[in-house]
Amino acid sequence: MALNARLDHRNPLVFDTHELGRRPGALQRLTRAVDAPKDLGLQGVIGVPEGAPVELELRLESVMEGVLVTGTARAVAEGECVRCLEPLQLELEADFQEMFSYPDADDRGRPKAEPADDAEEDEDRLFIEDGLFDLEPVLRDAVVLALPMQPVCQEDCEGLCSECGVRLSDEPGHHHDAVDIRWAALQGLAGSLEDGEKDEISGAEPGADEKQEK
Ligand SMILES: [Zn+2]
Ligand SMILES: [Zn+2]
Repeated sequence: MALNARLDHRNPLVFDTHELGRRPGALQRLTRAVDAPKDLGLQGVIGVPEGAPVELELRLESVMEGVLVTGTARAVAEGECVRCLEPLQLELEADFQEMFSYPDADDRGRPKAEPADDAEEDEDRLFIEDGLFDLEPVLRDAVVLALPMQPVCQEDCEGLCSECGVRLSDEPGHHHDAVDIRWAALQGLAGSLEDGEKDEISGAEPGADEKQEK
């Protein structure tokens, strides 16, 4: 089994299980506030900015083959509305549960299942190294799952006007008269004709009225 680079207990996302001990049934609850690691979220869509606070609530449970970690992460994600491109913030609550196995319990604790399944699972399996485990991959997966693929600033966001780019939610009833240039020219002509007629009528009317009154 290839271990990754050694875990560093000073990394805020690395947790120590020594206190818990290898006593199946032992429980430990803890909370920890950490700075968000880089690229926490859906890249280019929405995510928790690097360094932003992430509140972690964990429950560590010692079981035969390792430590079962159950928890919740709370943070504020930032992104932009996919319809109107306004910046948006989202309060995020991501739940997770993951098994961290003792490397030496690898075979003992697991029933001999079909080899194909085992090989597939092994790639995703997480291990305890020297009593430490790294929550980062678990946190990443949980946050990505909790985030919307298509974040919107509000459920009924109408997006942007395709003609002028104005944000439609800001201007209810916004529209453009559907005219092309030729139409506009004709309308202009019709307008000037009407104006001319009105002038003649208004010019003639006072005289006609006067005659009737006399
Ligand atoms: Zn929007
Ligand atoms: Zn418009």
